[in-house]
Amino acid sequence: MKKSIFYFLSFILISGGIFAQEQSQDQTKPKTGHTNNNKFKQLYDEFSTPNMFRTASGAPGPAYYQQQADYKMDVVLDDENTKLSGNETITYTNKSPDVLTYLWVQLDQNKRAKDSKSPLIEGEGYRPATSASNFVSTYMKEPFDGGFNILEVKDTKGSDLAHTINRTMMRVELPVPLKSGEQFSFSIKWWYKINDHLVDRARSGYEYFPEDGNRAYVIAQFYPRMAVYNDVEGWQNSQFWGRDEFALPFGNFEVNITVPADHILDGTGKLMNRKEVFSKTMLQRYEEAKKSYDKPVIIVTQAEAEAAEKGFSKETKTWKMYAENVRDFGFTTSRKFIWDMMAVKIGGKDIMAVSLYPKEGNPLWEQWSTRTVANTLESYSRMTFDYPYHKAISVHAKQQGMEYPMICWNYGRPEKDGTYSDRVKYGMIGVITHEVGHNFFPMIINSDERQWTWMDEGLNTFVQYVAEQDFGKKYPEALSPGHKNYPSDRGPARMIVPYMGGNQDFIAPIMTKGLNAYQFGNNAYGKPATALNILRETIMGHDLFDYSFREYAHRWMFKHPTPEDFFRTMEDASAVDLDWFWRGWFYTTDWVDIGIKEVKKYYVSSKPNAEGERLLERYKRFNVNTQDFVYLVEEGSEDFDESMRNSDPVEASKSLKEYLMDNFTEAERKNIKSPKYFYSVTFNKPGGLVMPIIAEYTYADGTTKRETYPAQIWRLNDNEVSRTIASEKEIVSIVVDPDLETADVDTSNNSWPKEIKQSDFDKFKDKVKN
Ligand SMILES: [Zn+2]
Repeated sequence: MKKSIFYFLSFILISGGIFAQEQSQDQTKPKTGHTNNNKFKQLYDEFSTPNMFRTASGAPGPAYYQQQADYKMDVVLDDENTKLSGNETITYTNKSPDVLTYLWVQLDQNKRAKDSKSPLIEGEGYRPATSASNFVSTYMKEPFDGGFNILEVKDTKGSDLAHTINRTMMRVELPVPLKSGEQFSFSIKWWYKINDHLVDRARSGYEYFPEDGNRAYVIAQFYPRMAVYNDVEGWQNSQFWGRDEFALPFGNFEVNITVPADHILDGTGKLMNRKEVFSKTMLQRYEEAKKSYDKPVIIVTQAEAEAAEKGFSKETKTWKMYAENVRDFGFTTSRKFIWDMMAVKIGGKDIMAVSLYPKEGNPLWEQWSTRTVANTLESYSRMTFDYPYHKAISVHAKQQGMEYPMICWNYGRPEKDGTYSDRVKYGMIGVITHEVGHNFFPMIINSDERQWTWMDEGLNTFVQYVAEQDFGKKYPEALSPGHKNYPSDRGPARMIVPYMGGNQDFIAPIMTKGLNAYQFGNNAYGKPATALNILRETIMGHDLFDYSFREYAHRWMFKHPTPEDFFRTMEDASAVDLDWFWRGWFYTTDWVDIGIKEVKKYYVSSKPNAEGERLLERYKRFNVNTQDFVYLVEEGSEDFDESMRNSDPVEASKSLKEYLMDNFTEAERKNIKSPKYFYSVTFNKPGGLVMPIIAEYTYADGTTKRETYPAQIWRLNDNEVSRTIASEKEIVSIVVDPDLETADVDTSNNSWPKEIKQSDFDKFKDKVKN
């Protein structure tokens, strides 16, 4: 029995001492009980219950299903009247266990209908500066009417189907309920007036070039698209207000697009009639490009594109595309396009990296666009899975940054004389990396963008950072003088500090629907990307993180994951408990601020101080033999005297010396550590987020030692924790988070001693920033 009491006592002695514990309890004793707000509490309340569709491991369950929507479309571009019309047949396969009585179809173009409510939810007031075109369209013109004109909705026998349009959603009544496993085909005939995407900052539309009278079209959300039906949302028919992107089922697309005969066109899918639409020269160059792994081959030259600009052919040409297992379809067309391609080997397969750009994009585009596409496919394939499609296209469109399967639009335009700033160059390489990267998130790992912006933007921005760093290493000649690495503007922890440390009235948790999130870019792109980067660099390490991230990618490739599927998989594959991390970073707006509250120095003494006496009294009550106890007294306290500074700790304590002599041989004593300096370091945490404490100790001889205390150190005290350190060398300074890897918002409390170390730390911060 005595033994067990002794163990009990040594346990509480280690965990802070009986005395200290009782004191703090008295001070913080709550007046009433409180609910469990422990930051390490498991996320059972926040997560949905695992089921047959989605398992507790984060993988698809045995009853996981997803719907399929296959499309056959004929689309005609009227370039002169900027009109797009189409006739599509959708074949919808109900793979759910449910009986459906109606289908929901998305009419995204109705965001631009004359009576659209989208502009009416903007409450930001007047803009002190606007472009002239925007000014005219906002204040001087009737609203542009770019909504869908739905001409007919019919079944395969040609009978009209009852349908109801509620703004951007259309409900189509099924003549008979669609049972599990059944298919239903129907057709929609439509047209709409194409918008100038520079006037209304749209994701789709045209740019008009007044100097030559041509347009370059980037066309998307252009056809009525099936909504997602699944086990999580039922029908995802949340309206398209303009910001939250899209939720789309996978399917196969057969699309014939008729455009002026002198146009160049590319889009989602395989070009099925290349021989009809390519000239002989283009075909030859295309064959060359398929074998060119180190540089792009020009398919349509700038001179050819400039000649074509003058054509304005009245003839038409039909480009036939076929895409398998894609969630959407986009295309670009113009007679202004220069076209280049190169091959990239991914997992033993040849993929085409492709760029289309008007002469206005050169010389920047011919130099870097296709190379950036190729680098992106390589980096993302390494971080997730081998890119499964046969090509990836980057299209130059002014002020655009938007993604679709196999194709995306990107900004980055040089001045008229061909010169460009670093900002334009890095902006272009960054946006191409980002938009091509979207092929992985959300085009293949098909999350619900309408609900969770961070699942595609955040994950994508995180991998974008990895790919940009790869690009800088692969093409150092692309970097400006003075830049050793690619200057990514999102990813590293320190870059999210101004946001996370900012005004809490305008910060929302990452787990917020994009439409309702303050500071959209920081909320849905920057913070989740940084959180993942911190997980990889600081919490999990590359091996565990990369394995788990790839596992998530493989599990949900060509499927529809939810946030929990991601959170669960990252834990399931790594054995790292991350509930505290997801809770803090994704479900709250807490910030990181960890500091050093105080550092006390202690010396070994032959007799206890008053505090020690009181502790001894307590032990004695439990019959503990206290005769061989060793005592520490604080420097500068009543019981401290100057002679202690230079005395040997073993000589200073009779009990310690005797214990060593009685229990160790001389040889053993030689191998034992002989600490001379004893410190108690108290770390405090003004910020709400729990994070590891990364402490760097610098000794009098200039050497340093780094210690990382896991985040769990905060589990029993959310405000401050102390560590006692025994050291053979004198510690002269301590810095918390020396590499600025935790996004600590206030570094003024990160160093000890405060005054001396602060200036060095500032210097270091400046160095990291540059
Ligand atoms: Zn994006």
